[in-house]
Amino acid sequence: MAAKTDKIWMNGEFVDWDQANVHILTHTLHYGLGAFEGIRCYKCDDGRTAVFRLPEHIDRLFDSAHVGLMKIPFARGEIVEACLEALRINKLEEGYIRPLVFIGAGDERGLYVEKNPISVAIIVWPWGAYLGEEGLRKGIHAKTSSFTRHHPNAMMTKAKLCGNYINSILAKKEAKSAGYEEAIMLDPEGYVSEASGENIFIIRKGIVKTPPPTTILPGITRDTVFQLIHDEGGSVTEERFTRDELYMADEAFFTGTAAEITPIRRVDERDIGTGLAGEFALSIQSKYFDVVRGRADAYTHWLSYV
Ligand code: PMP
Repeated sequence: MAAKTDKIWMNGEFVDWDQANVHILTHTLHYGLGAFEGIRCYKCDDGRTAVFRLPEHIDRLFDSAHVGLMKIPFARGEIVEACLEALRINKLEEGYIRPLVFIGAGDERGLYVEKNPISVAIIVWPWGAYLGEEGLRKGIHAKTSSFTRHHPNAMMTKAKLCGNYINSILAKKEAKSAGYEEAIMLDPEGYVSEASGENIFIIRKGIVKTPPPTTILPGITRDTVFQLIHDEGGSVTEERFTRDELYMADEAFFTGTAAEITPIRRVDERDIGTGLAGEFALSIQSKYFDVVRGRADAYTHWLSYV
């Protein structure tokens, strides 16, 4: 199925996919200040479609816009409802939801604009496994990037701001063109931070670790994994680690809305553990899919049925 649907929600109205255009002077297009979200919906076993942790994603959208000094001209509930409506109108049973907040074109030019309108668009499309079905099952090979993750006072990584992603795009291109599937970025002090669009976890001798929320986007999938592990009586240590600690891990995996739970089987030509998808990673992945598809009664409060 083409990654396309019929209608896009723009500022309160649905317009045809091909008509969802903006003026060339759109401020965000020139300077990169905008905010966005990436959300998934799944077809549950009972046939209904449910959006995973929709209110949390919309809260993060509003937080990101707040950090970026953009006032969203809609209430949170209106954006939540618009996401659900976009799925209904497009009859999309399973796929991806992309809300985007951007500074539009106006009479003002240059960086400093006060009156240009803040626009909101919501696009939905069918989207399979971001790092591939095989990546989900067998794990992927990642490369430590030559690009450093943002210093927290250069780009504010807790906000999902458009311009933050230049770094991610360059890192991803570098990794892909060298034959790897994903890029792992180090923070300005050389500790492992996150991937171009995923958080990272490692496990060694039963201890699960992930970097603290300093230079990362604190992912909603990361939080979901915390809760799943916690509810089974385990715990996650939020602690910085180095790339050699990553190489020596028994297992590693990425988390993200798009990438879901993807095992990492190799980093920089070094096998992680056995060099196969880890047992723990695959068991968390299977729990995650149970949760998002409505098969786990304890977590249905995370689902917004369409
Ligand atoms: N880090 C970055 C840089 C990301 O873009 C994403 C994807 N939103 C994540 C981590 C994972 O976040 P989430 O689990 O909320 O999708």
